[in-house]
Amino acid sequence: MEATKPHIALLASPGMGHLIPVLELAKRLVSHQSFKVTVFVVATDHASIVSSQLLQSPASPDGDDLLEIVLLPLIDVSDIIGPGVSFIQQIEATMLRSVPFFRTEISKMESRPTALVVDWFGTDVLEVADEFNMLKFIFITSNAWFFAFALYTPEIDRKEIDEHAKNQKPLKIPGCRPLNFEDTTEFLLMDPNDPTYQRHIGVIIKMSLTDGILVNTWDELEPTSLKALRDARKVPIYPIGPLIRPIEKSVLRSEIIDWLDKQPEESVIYVSFGSGGTLSAQEVIELAWGLELSQQRFLWVVRPPTEKDAAGAFLTLTNGCDCNPDYLPDGFLARTHDRGLVVPMWAPQVEVLSHPSIGGFLTHCGWNSTIESITNGVPMIAWPLYAEQKMNACLLTEDIGASIRATPMESNGMVTRGDIRSMVRKILVDHEGRNIRARIKELKNSAAKALAEGGSSYNVLFQFAEICIQHLSTKAFGA
Ligand code: UDP
Repeated sequence: MEATKPHIALLASPGMGHLIPVLELAKRLVSHQSFKVTVFVVATDHASIVSSQLLQSPASPDGDDLLEIVLLPLIDVSDIIGPGVSFIQQIEATMLRSVPFFRTEISKMESRPTALVVDWFGTDVLEVADEFNMLKFIFITSNAWFFAFALYTPEIDRKEIDEHAKNQKPLKIPGCRPLNFEDTTEFLLMDPNDPTYQRHIGVIIKMSLTDGILVNTWDELEPTSLKALRDARKVPIYPIGPLIRPIEKSVLRSEIIDWLDKQPEESVIYVSFGSGGTLSAQEVIELAWGLELSQQRFLWVVRPPTEKDAAGAFLTLTNGCDCNPDYLPDGFLARTHDRGLVVPMWAPQVEVLSHPSIGGFLTHCGWNSTIESITNGVPMIAWPLYAEQKMNACLLTEDIGASIRATPMESNGMVTRGDIRSMVRKILVDHEGRNIRARIKELKNSAAKALAEGGSSYNVLFQFAEICIQHLSTKAFGA
């Protein structure tokens, strides 16, 4: 018997920042559309992913059997790891080597998927969608402004890039906020003949040749960039966000939540740099001193410092305990124990951000962290580290009005203890924090409306679903 509902295949590349939104999209397709969804997970460490409970939460009370998770085999990329090889290159190699395994899984399936949705690093796998007559979509787990910039890169005049990269002029992005040199991505500064640059351009071109782009944002958050993307008419755009992980009830009984329960309302600054962010030894010391000097309450997810690699934990994060943080200043833990909690490696972030005692979030501006903060009405201090995070920080501070920004005053680019002290106080104590809090509460409401029945993201997901349903019926009639 022919299936009447489409079956969607989703592919998540390594990293929690990719897996979390892909799983949420899968759950939404099940609960919203009753589609069958199979999520293929490419990971660098199965043990930590499985133990993270992420893969254990059901799709919906009655949609359990519609969601299937398939862990693809671990890929060995040890032959390419070495000095100068970034975590992005490791992810790209892992994804490329996963293609045959993905193909085998698809060819074994009785009910072949109607559409394939991959994230930024999954474009090599799109050839399998062509082989099996599946629709092809990209899921951008970041914002529309960043994607508008990316989509424009293959056609930017070289002279404009030189003006930007050499003379530090803002780069115009059609219909959107320009990109300041301070927020530029490493990619734009590369030699255009560099294979990494060429590969990046190839990826963007492949994206523009798909059936559509799903973006984890919503119309009311980024009206200008979304309009620009639609006006460009290069590829259909589906803003379906914000999709964030829901609160895990079992976590609400943890030690961290017990501690937060004892703190006054909106009094704690939460400090975390995402799933992979790490600071240098000197930055960790400045941050510790800044928190101490602010005399405010804090919850800090600490990681051992790394020099010259701000994404130091991206592919290596384990649930292992770093119980002796001897890289913190002498006596810091004892002096701050009555108003600070230091947590090694990882915290249940969504549960933390939704707690009433959280008053601010010092964040690296990964997009998931950003939308988790907005949807919980928490003002941010933006301290971007790598990838597109400087663009996110600019968007949050200058466009959306949801954060203040860590701007290093020192000539060496270091954010000092004085900067940190004053930013924490601005968010938790001063008038500025209250204004941002009011603004972010409006955004929180707009996010809830966008996802609710009849809201912009709700309707857009229907449009996406319609395209998949049409393709299924065309296939059924053998066209
Ligand atoms: N996260 C978490 N606990 C932590 C650090 C991160 O639960 O201690 C989650 C966070 O809630 C978010 C994801 O990991 O959903 C990180 O994604 P993001 O896009 O913010 O940053 P990335 O890690 O990709 O740089």
